[in-house]
Amino acid sequence: MTFNENADISGGKASRRSGGRGMKIGGGAGGGAILIAIVVLLVQHFTGVDVSGVAGGLSGLQGQQIDTSGDERLACTAAEANKDANCRIQGAAAMLQTYWADQVRGYTDPQGIVIFDQSTTTGCGSASTDMGPFYCPNDQTIYIDPAFYDELAQQFGDTAGGLAQLYVIGHEWGHHIQNITGTMKGKNLSATGASSDSVRLELQADCYAGAWLGDASTVKDENGQTYLEPITADQITDALKAAAAVGDDHIQEVTQGQANPESFTHGTSTQRQKWFNTGLNGSPGSCQTFGIPASQLG
Ligand SMILES: [Zn+2]
Repeated sequence: MTFNENADISGGKASRRSGGRGMKIGGGAGGGAILIAIVVLLVQHFTGVDVSGVAGGLSGLQGQQIDTSGDERLACTAAEANKDANCRIQGAAAMLQTYWADQVRGYTDPQGIVIFDQSTTTGCGSASTDMGPFYCPNDQTIYIDPAFYDELAQQFGDTAGGLAQLYVIGHEWGHHIQNITGTMKGKNLSATGASSDSVRLELQADCYAGAWLGDASTVKDENGQTYLEPITADQITDALKAAAAVGDDHIQEVTQGQANPESFTHGTSTQRQKWFNTGLNGSPGSCQTFGIPASQLG
């Protein structure tokens, strides 16, 4: 995945938050063991609470003031977005803002994407890297520690290329779309199970990510420059591998030895790939994961 170096990504609302208060992981043999434990937790959390607050996964801090004084808006160029994971997040934000403004009547952007280091406070409570990237509906903000990409790659192999990284951002943005369009309203977000509201929301977010990426090489900035060079089949395969790697069944097989469909919150690897592909080859309107029988989820 390559950004067009002439594209203007300056509008992308992404900022870096300083002042993480997490523990540093030390070196040596002990450090390695701790790191593995964290990787397992982290990927479990990615499938568990990525619409946090709503899902009840975080301690509530609603109504409290969030300290954003240390937030620094990124000012990367498209060329930098080809080299740097943080800048890539800004580029994704610029593209997503343009794309969704065209797709949804009355669309409003998220407050932004906050890139944090190890831990931070959010409108949904405290967050740390081991929760994985997530969207907080209370402050309409996406939170991500890019260290997550490295953990994903370490645990599941080479599934963290540039396009796979965009897929993760596109998925979280999909939750914002569900929030502003009212899809989240009245849904049972703490339910688990293969055809639960949680799984349907997650598969729809995967589909929204696919719909965006399917159009990504035709979305243009204000000067008529496309944001991305055309996406290759290999890059799509890599993003699909990332979607499969974070399927509930795969995660549970890796971490617990077997899959337990009753505890699914995000859908199986097959389902996640199916709905990503549905979006990729269709549009947001193709992402009808509600109101269909469980058998049609994949
Ligand atoms: Zn999600």
